Amino acid sequence: MIRDARVEDVAAIRACVDAAYSPYIDRLDSKPAAMRVNYDALVAAGEMHVYELSGEIVSCMALHAEGEVLHIGNLAVVPAHQGAGIGSEMLVYAEEVARSDGLLELRLFTNEVMIENVEFYTNSGFFETERRVDDGFKRVFFSKPVVPVPVGQCLACDLAAGVRPLPGGLIHREQGWLVEHCVGPLGLGTLVVKPARHVTAVADLDGDEAVQMGRLLRDTAAIVTELSEPAQVYVSLWSHESGEPGHVHFVVQPIDSEAIERFGRGPDLQAAMFEANELPDPGEVAEYAERARGLFNG
Ligand SMILES: [Zn+2]
Repeated sequence: MIRDARVEDVAAIRACVDAAYSPYIDRLDSKPAAMRVNYDALVAAGEMHVYELSGEIVSCMALHAEGEVLHIGNLAVVPAHQGAGIGSEMLVYAEEVARSDGLLELRLFTNEVMIENVEFYTNSGFFETERRVDDGFKRVFFSKPVVPVPVGQCLACDLAAGVRPLPGGLIHREQGWLVEHCVGPLGLGTLVVKPARHVTAVADLDGDEAVQMGRLLRDTAAIVTELSEPAQVYVSLWSHESGEPGHVHFVVQPIDSEAIERFGRGPDLQAAMFEANELPDPGEVAEYAERARGLFNG
């Protein structure tokens, strides 16, 4: 069972870390960083998590959220229980914590000489982002994106996780929200604004997401206006394609007189565009997305 650490666990946490990391003292020629940590403070901050097996603490780790990232620190498994999948269970637990808190990425590092750890993280879906000296140690830094819901269950989440092709790529990310080019047949220049978290009702947005929504819809509409010089910009939200409430995604759609002539106005226009099912050219989408990206960053 993995649970939050309590004050009375601190001695067992230290013993677990010492047992796991002391074999590296020779290789490092010094005490590993994990053995110098103030675990009283981490437990008090609510950041330590332990794996309890038959009343014994066999593994521990620190989890610390910062922005959209969950940092995993000082993961340790006592040698007698290594190789039994406990470390993997700890990483899965960390990913579940990140997912339920709406975080988008896991990050951790290990020492370059701890080659077993480098291999373990690589085999656990983490990719190496850099190697550098940090705090006096030669460290290898790793990252893993957090898939908000299991792959294949939500198009919006799959696109955000990069497991389905997204023409134009991610255009903008800001405080829990993402902006992409629309993958549906709503014309070149139509952008989608959606929460990074799998939220299926506007009523379920949290306070920060709700505040951010207004600003981002305005900015996205302004950018679409600048890039397309439309007669009107529609901002609409249905998210009900399959008959079930879907991942909230606002469609920010530039409308010109040509589109009105062909497809009509308002909801009729969108229905007619879905009927016609003409997808914009991927090359043009990529070019448009690049210009939009520049305006978001400008
Ligand atoms: Zn989703």
